[in-house]
Amino acid sequence: MIIVHSLQALRQALLGVPAYHPGVAFVPTMGALHHGHISLVAAARRLSPTVVTSIFVNPTQFNDPADFARYPKSLEQDIDMLEAAGTHLLFLPEVATLYPQGTQHLPPYPLGRLEQLLEGVHRPGHFQGVCQVVHRLLQAVQPGHLLLGAKDYQQCMVVRQLLLQTALPIQLQIVPTMREADGLAMSSRNRRLGADGRQKAASIYRTLQWINSQWPHAQPAILEAEARRQLLAAGFESVDYCSICHAHTLEPLQQADADEPAVALVAATLEGVRLIDNLPLGPKMA
Ligand code: AMP
Repeated sequence: MIIVHSLQALRQALLGVPAYHPGVAFVPTMGALHHGHISLVAAARRLSPTVVTSIFVNPTQFNDPADFARYPKSLEQDIDMLEAAGTHLLFLPEVATLYPQGTQHLPPYPLGRLEQLLEGVHRPGHFQGVCQVVHRLLQAVQPGHLLLGAKDYQQCMVVRQLLLQTALPIQLQIVPTMREADGLAMSSRNRRLGADGRQKAASIYRTLQWINSQWPHAQPAILEAEARRQLLAAGFESVDYCSICHAHTLEPLQQADADEPAVALVAATLEGVRLIDNLPLGPKMA
């Protein structure tokens, strides 16, 4: 695995590969890697002969500076995991490499309703930061494929919009969420949970599955209220949202309708750790 820090070294390492060629698949991460990240690398390997991964904790997507400061870091272990998973090139930029003019007063991306819903309400500016860093990374790596995890469902929708707006010729591949044996979505944040919290955390997935089992035979508002109650009863301190939304626009669904593509999304806090998860609500067999 080649490790590069500068844009020049990145371009040098990809010399001879045409820009946006499908032979290059890119997996952006913020490090503190787990098997969920590695499943993206594995999917990238199946798509393209060259896999590029980045590790960069992007300051502009953290609306809470304390969250940025305590973001977990495990670079040596990350490098070993990426090497074992078959990443060819690891890009490790500094903040000044991606933001040579600083991180303040950056021009906004027109995200419309997408950033006013769900995470957008609770993390103002977060998706602007996501677009700032993903756009810069895509211009630097120029991959044919971009792989993102379905765990960050709204992020996938935002990046899809970014690709449309920028007309970058990149195929977005959304990789299913990797879960622990009890159903908890793998996340770097899970490491901050104590043993008790870790056990309780799996109730997010159980609650999402319960919603799915009821869909579309009960109305969204009823399911959302009961799911919220279940999460609080399981020990979550607060529930930012528990919403059933249109799977493409993320607008809240007012009526249960088997013909609308739907997804249930949750953000809830346990032991001070904010966890998110989601589950597409599928049509059921008779
Ligand atoms: P992060 O390092 O948290 O920014 O995540 C980097 C990429 O890994 C994003 O596209 C995430 O959606 C994806 N990812 C994170 N957790 C999981 C998971 N449990 N399963 C699949 N992909 C994941």
